[in-house]
Amino acid sequence: MASLDNLPKTFKAISISGPNQPWEVKELPLQQPGSNQVLVRVHACGICASDRWVKEGTWPGLQYPRIPGHEIVGRVAALGEGIVAMQKDDEARGLVQTGNARFQLGGLVGVGWNGGYCGSCVSCRDGEYWTCLKGDVTGFTFDGGVAEYVAVPYNALVSIPESALDNADYAELAPLNCGGVSVYDAIRTSKWKPGDLCVVQGIGGLGHLAVQYAAKMGLTVYAVSSGSSKRDLALSLGAKEYIDSSASDAVAQIQALGGAKLILCTAPYAKVITGILPALAKNGTVTMVSAAMDGEVQVGNVWLNMHRACVRGWCCGASADSEQALRFSTNVGIKSVVAKFALEEYAKAYEAVMDNKARLRNVIVFP
Ligand SMILES: [Zn+2]
Ligand SMILES: [Zn+2]
Repeated sequence: MASLDNLPKTFKAISISGPNQPWEVKELPLQQPGSNQVLVRVHACGICASDRWVKEGTWPGLQYPRIPGHEIVGRVAALGEGIVAMQKDDEARGLVQTGNARFQLGGLVGVGWNGGYCGSCVSCRDGEYWTCLKGDVTGFTFDGGVAEYVAVPYNALVSIPESALDNADYAELAPLNCGGVSVYDAIRTSKWKPGDLCVVQGIGGLGHLAVQYAAKMGLTVYAVSSGSSKRDLALSLGAKEYIDSSASDAVAQIQALGGAKLILCTAPYAKVITGILPALAKNGTVTMVSAAMDGEVQVGNVWLNMHRACVRGWCCGASADSEQALRFSTNVGIKSVVAKFALEEYAKAYEAVMDNKARLRNVIVFP
């Protein structure tokens, strides 16, 4: 039901009024969700490197004021009328048991980068919802989750099993809706076999999740990063070995083992990515999940041919992909390593991410 009777009249959020303006704490009126929207009481929202495009106004067509945030975990606070009707129809048709509707008041949900899809464009007709030509982006094309409440389109919503909270808290689950599903899907859709050697390049916000997913899916994970500070973390998350690329030749070590069938690039530095490519085995796949802004990755044409190599990019997934990622994470005990901040500390937490000073994931939490 869409009644807001039991909810507060206003909610607090972080808002920005224009490009490069300061982040401000605002008190805003709480409104009924639209017919096909769900109102979510936010419990945690992660900060993603891509939030930079909201701050700087570099995302095409971005409108202000805007509330950022697309790594959301919370609970359903109100359902739009269209969703109530749709779920009743599902029950009437016997598609779900009465009382077992997918989204119920109080239910645990997530929201990621994909803010819904149209269902009718050429991408959607191919089942490629994430590349919907009319797709929305949470915290970009509509207000996001660095707020006590957020209204999101029904098909952007991720249903999360309650048992996810047995092993993780809200904050530890939040980044799985963007960083988590990005690496989960990047691995799941790459070509490899259980036991194959997988290099995870970079052990940061994405890399520490990639190590866990790759190891739990059955790959043999070699974590590669500069310096020794991430060694213990990488090994504790499931890496078989850690290579300090500043102290030894990572490519030579990987090639001595026959090369990597899968290289996941998670650190956003074009030179570093270019440098690890020769560690690839014949018929191997390089999947880039990071967004390098410091130049172009260089790939040799003849090297590609002779290796029959696949070099590809990947980003996020749609809500159904996130549901798979969250279910898998719950089953095998994957969670994000986070630092928690209050809403009022958003600017500080954001700057730490952009200055590469956040250890892994910074997450805003709501009491
Ligand atoms: Zn993100
Ligand atoms: Zn579409």
